[in-house]
Amino acid sequence: MPIQVLPKHVADLIAAGEVVERPASVVKELCENALDAGAAAVTAEIRGGGVRYIRVADNGGGIAREDARKAFLPHATSKIGTADDLEKILTLGFRGEALPSIAAVAKVQVLSKTANDEHGFCYEIAGGEEISLEDAGCPAGTTFIVRDLFYNTPARVKFLKKDVTEGNFVGAALERLALSRPDVAFTFIREGKQVFQTPGDSSPASAVRAVLGKLFYETLLGVKNAHNGVEVTGFVCEPAAARPNRNMQYFFLNGRYIKCPTASAALGEAYKHSLMQGKFPACVLHITMPPGLVDVNVHPAKTEVRFADDRPVFSAVYQGAYQALNAGVAMPVGAAALSRPLETKQTRIDDLAGGCGQLPLQTSFLRDPGEFSSPLAPERDEPSLIKRPFSDLPPVPQIINYQLSIVNCIELFNTYFLAEIGDELMLIDKHAAHERILYERLKAGQGAVQRQVLLEPLPLHLSREETAVLLENNALLEQAGFLIEEFGADAIVLRECPLLLVGADLNAQAAEIAGFLLAQKGDLTTGALDWIFHSAACRAAVKAGDPTTAYERERFVEKLLAMPEIRHCPHGRPVMVTITKKELEKRFGR
Ligand code: ADP
Ligand code: MG
Repeated sequence: MPIQVLPKHVADLIAAGEVVERPASVVKELCENALDAGAAAVTAEIRGGGVRYIRVADNGGGIAREDARKAFLPHATSKIGTADDLEKILTLGFRGEALPSIAAVAKVQVLSKTANDEHGFCYEIAGGEEISLEDAGCPAGTTFIVRDLFYNTPARVKFLKKDVTEGNFVGAALERLALSRPDVAFTFIREGKQVFQTPGDSSPASAVRAVLGKLFYETLLGVKNAHNGVEVTGFVCEPAAARPNRNMQYFFLNGRYIKCPTASAALGEAYKHSLMQGKFPACVLHITMPPGLVDVNVHPAKTEVRFADDRPVFSAVYQGAYQALNAGVAMPVGAAALSRPLETKQTRIDDLAGGCGQLPLQTSFLRDPGEFSSPLAPERDEPSLIKRPFSDLPPVPQIINYQLSIVNCIELFNTYFLAEIGDELMLIDKHAAHERILYERLKAGQGAVQRQVLLEPLPLHLSREETAVLLENNALLEQAGFLIEEFGADAIVLRECPLLLVGADLNAQAAEIAGFLLAQKGDLTTGALDWIFHSAACRAAVKAGDPTTAYERERFVEKLLAMPEIRHCPHGRPVMVTITKKELEKRFGR
């Protein structure tokens, strides 16, 4: 093919591909324009997940009628003029790409009026082609209506997910925008229902509360730190409210939401000694620094940035979070409520286990009712930390002949059981073995997993995105033994859980499942249920470090030997290793 300059509509479609990936990108671009126009209030509404209808209305400066067409030309921007301006960008937009890109792949209508103009205008453009430009009576500010996204590029429609999922992406984008600007009142309306509204009173705390909910807000500690020209303010969560993934880490740089591995690593370092492995702090942190020291022009979505030097950012975030954690910097508002939600949760579980009268409260990870009431059962000689009712191990099949008696079952490193069985030494990874047994139990009960009704429904402390994804996958959760229910506008409660999880940290379990489902981005495979079984089994299984008694160990080994199919954990690691007497003799040169 000879070299040619691409026709305008082809070039527009290519540019649109970079900027407009899905409804959420349209909403984000339109809201950013509203913020750049100095709006004090922004309303975003979607229908049909935003594919069918998006409306973004602001009360900002408006567009002059003579600029209406120009605004939709590629590289048309009122925000920068010269290359030098790139060094000091303070607006969210500057590339002049959004409007032409959106108009190239949707039907767009814009109504706008500046404060000085008497009349506003209504401009219509679809698939990059102007349809009309007329006078219109409208208030000062701008309203964009975008319909039928990708109506002229059917190939791209295929890459869209279900409307609910697209709506979730829009919700996540709006959460970030609303958190980024507490001085602006944001309203989000989804399929006719108001999802949240921030007051726009400039208080970061009230924005967090309105967007992420009261329960989350009450777990937060205030952060304020300045270091080498980098200022960090906002909130980190108390360690007890840490999460199984980084979904609730919100970083904003000079008012713009960014993904920030540097800040995330700094946060992890600050919590190093306060968190268990696999737990991540939640945060809403605003980082402010001279715009010249950061390059935001790395990617069209502008969520990735490059710092001239990462170190001051790392130090400022690390110090800020560390001080908040260790000096106990109180939350500006609602400090009295700190940590309450988690304590309440624990009490609920205890109430449940003790109160319902049907669950024997035993203290071994072996959950075979009757085992400990057997007259043969010796007194437990050590206190155990594991408080869960028992029900999960099947009775030992009678076919097992123990002519091979288990002698001297001891525990090593709080992790491995060592048993002498016949002329073999058996080493068992107690967590791996127990996990596999529980996993098999859940799998066998597929669709009819043994459940426990919670005496009081347990409020789940999740982000709106996590809440939505759980509700969407309600059927899957029920198969796994979880019954969730909507509770108020944007909260959910857990009503039933798999029996073996009674007493476990159910909030952490719910967040972990939500994190998994979100990572699947709507593409659920048949493996999803299996994944949940793994995760639940792992959570319910005895942990390395949990104390066990000799009696428990011996019964456990007996049961394990009776289940020859269980020789590997669900992840494929061996649950036991045997060393024969012969091997030992050889090693000792006997
Ligand atoms: P950019 O934001 O990079 O300048 P856009 O294509 O998003 O490019 O917008 C083009 C121009 O249209 C902006 O520079 C601005 O002048 C104008 N504009 C867009 N949306 C609004 C709005 N909501 N209020 C006022 N002006 C707007
Ligand atoms: Mg823009």
